[in-house]
Amino acid sequence: MNAQELILPGIHHVTAIASDPQRNLDFYTQVLGLRLVKLTVNFDDPGTYHFYLADETGTPGTVLTFFPWPNARQGRVGSGQIAVMAFAIPHGSREYWKERLAENGVTVSAFPQRFGDSGLAFQDPDGLQLELVESDSPQEYAGWTGGPVEPAYALRGFHSVTLWLQDADPSRRMLEQNLGFRYIDQDGDRLRFEAPGAFARVIDLVALPDMQAGKMGAGVFHHVAWRAHDDNHQLAWRDALLSAGVQVTPVRDRQYFHSIYFYEPGGVLFEIATDPPGFTLDESPEQLGSALRLPSWYEPQREQIELALPRIRLPTGAAAPR
Ligand code: ZN
Repeated sequence: MNAQELILPGIHHVTAIASDPQRNLDFYTQVLGLRLVKLTVNFDDPGTYHFYLADETGTPGTVLTFFPWPNARQGRVGSGQIAVMAFAIPHGSREYWKERLAENGVTVSAFPQRFGDSGLAFQDPDGLQLELVESDSPQEYAGWTGGPVEPAYALRGFHSVTLWLQDADPSRRMLEQNLGFRYIDQDGDRLRFEAPGAFARVIDLVALPDMQAGKMGAGVFHHVAWRAHDDNHQLAWRDALLSAGVQVTPVRDRQYFHSIYFYEPGGVLFEIATDPPGFTLDESPEQLGSALRLPSWYEPQREQIELALPRIRLPTGAAAPR
């Protein structure tokens, strides 16, 4: 693989911590109009759900995932974290979203123009900081046709993640020198970088030297995953990172993708995840998210796992775990 092919085209998924599973699921599916494309468990802690919320089919760059722990301690947003995640929305849809969020009891504010973008800021029920940014969407985007949001206004996948850092310089060096991101511009204390892909490719660094360090818990982002085209591409990235002195994990099987993990210098967990095999591995496109799916290594324990999981009502109206 030559150096040109060794690019991270953009975000694959973003993962966050929630508390009440039902409240989390209802907010993202009924208010924001994402589709639950996979209902499974945390592979490192199978007593906890893992929700995958995305477009119709779970396209990389649209996938927001949650570990909902019913009794999760509240986290604290601070430095060394992904502090904000923004979805792209179509131009002209800001008023629609402002009204929709307000009607659902969400406190919403307009943020000042940044890099020419305008948009809305709000929090999910656990306090997770979200934004909607009016943006040109270069890719054909399949919204969820079965969802409650009119397709003309539907979320168009991720616009960006924003990292809050004690010091942006070391993180900037890794983005530019090791990960192939391009510096775009500065707006106030915000530095913008882009991955070389066409979609879900923006990362902003904000240096906040006086900010308290963040603490993991409900209402806090856990990590961002960047895309690899396939297993070979991922292994080439792993070799390149190891050669650059970055501590990176072995490849882990996440069933719907394969993953490696490392920390960027500001303390934020990064992952590189493969596009294949994807979410239709074990369900048809129509069935996505309609029942609890377990990887083969947990199937022998299905009964115990189902007994331990909280009862929830799926967007289809069905009860889960069953
Ligand atoms: Zn991940």
